[in-house]
Amino acid sequence: GVRVRIAPSPTGEPHVGTVYIALFNYLFAKKMGGEFILRIEDTDANRSTPEFEQKVLDALKWTGLTWSEGPDVGGAYGPYRQSERKDIYRPFVEQMVRDGHAFRCFCTPERLEMMRDAQRAKGLPPKYDGHCLSLKAEEVIERMESGEPSVVRMKIPAEGSCDFNDGVYGDVSIPWDAVDMQVLLKADGMPTYHMANVVDDHLMKITHVARGEEWLASVPKHILIYKYLGLEPPKFMHLSLMRNADKSKLSKRKNPTSISYYSALGYLPEALMNFLGLFFIQIAEGEELLTMEELAEKFDPDNLSKAGAIFDVQKLDWLNGRWMREKLMPDEFLARVFDWASENSRLTEGLKLAQSRITKLGELPQLAGFLLANDVGLTPASFAGLKTSPAETLEIVNTVAFDLEKILEWNVETIEQELRDIADRLGKKLRVVTPPLFVAMSGSSRSLPLFDSMALLGRSVVRQRLKVASI
Ligand code: ATP
Ligand code: GLU
Repeated sequence: GVRVRIAPSPTGEPHVGTVYIALFNYLFAKKMGGEFILRIEDTDANRSTPEFEQKVLDALKWTGLTWSEGPDVGGAYGPYRQSERKDIYRPFVEQMVRDGHAFRCFCTPERLEMMRDAQRAKGLPPKYDGHCLSLKAEEVIERMESGEPSVVRMKIPAEGSCDFNDGVYGDVSIPWDAVDMQVLLKADGMPTYHMANVVDDHLMKITHVARGEEWLASVPKHILIYKYLGLEPPKFMHLSLMRNADKSKLSKRKNPTSISYYSALGYLPEALMNFLGLFFIQIAEGEELLTMEELAEKFDPDNLSKAGAIFDVQKLDWLNGRWMREKLMPDEFLARVFDWASENSRLTEGLKLAQSRITKLGELPQLAGFLLANDVGLTPASFAGLKTSPAETLEIVNTVAFDLEKILEWNVETIEQELRDIADRLGKKLRVVTPPLFVAMSGSSRSLPLFDSMALLGRSVVRQRLKVASI
């Protein structure tokens, strides 16, 4: 039977793109009577964290999608977390080396950097030059035994092209000379994404791989690994990436991309799924409001919409409003409101911060409302009462907006540290820098403590509000 998967890497805030791809796979499984499974691809130990994994799981659960196998629910083909499968990959790599399809490479990072610089200088795309291909077997053994670090790379045919059929793109042909001799096994014994992905799709009996089009160029590597291992590749479907209204790739700098941003603002998961599902079906105007069941019914993988997935926030808002008005009974609506508020740590933690600053509960909406607001109604007049000039205000807002991305872990301490550094750099006192930021965050100069508020709002909301404040 059909088996599909979503395979997120827990390296950042859960992305709407991940949910978009997950929804496609889910609908595909539902349509075909197949299984939809979840696999965590955390082979990149430097960038993957348990916190991000938890957030990815929470975000996927929030959407209402369900999976029949995964790290949280188990299943017959587990473990479903690649970091727990390290020993599973090694024999596959060894088989490829033994059969002469892959080779040990001892090139140092410095040598590779020089090689790439030289290629770039000639206007060529950087690609491994095959330096270690000609090493004799004895030399390889000797160098490995002496403890010299090495990786395993795959061999690539010298000529011809990789021809395959993609469920969305149709017939695709990629010349082998455009394909790099990919590292399969890293020096620390961890497989790379490509190796682990292929082995797991095989072992987990995945029949169809549906993922973002950014992976289309990797298909030749994957097909070759299947061939080297004597395995049958799955069918591939590469979905067009979501784009901003200006057609550029959806990026958090233009549009919030984190699922928690949308859930904290009170978008209904049903409305977000409805919005994303419309990218995969063809319907007439007036028929947009659809439940998951209705989406699955109308879903036809052979007749995908070619319209391109424009992330149109106004359309999402419109659908969300319709879901609120037309799909929820008043009592259900109220229950949703209270669930949303009590699960919304931005609100619950914010209220605790407000406790010592009010004399009556009735003051709460004015003091803490900005934590929930979609838009705090900033106008140039909001900044009028400040001691900083408009030019200084703008400089502060822009500097913080820019340096935001440098903060690794987003919490009260790191935010305070960054703002102190920024104040130093601008040659200003911290207490001069904070008031414009208060206003940018809350629309008012009377609000909760700044660092805590920024921590609670989260990076995407802060980014968004600073953007509004700078125009
Ligand atoms: P940004 O451009 O905002 O920095 P990103 O490209 O860094 O985002 P990643 O963290 O690389 O985002 O991607 C996380 C997941 O989201 C990946 O699985 C990726 O396939 C998916 N994704 C990223 N951007 C898009 C998009 N525009 N459309 C669909 N999926 C996307
Ligand atoms: N871990 C990859 C990602 O995050 C999965 C790509 C795939 O589906 O093969 O996009």
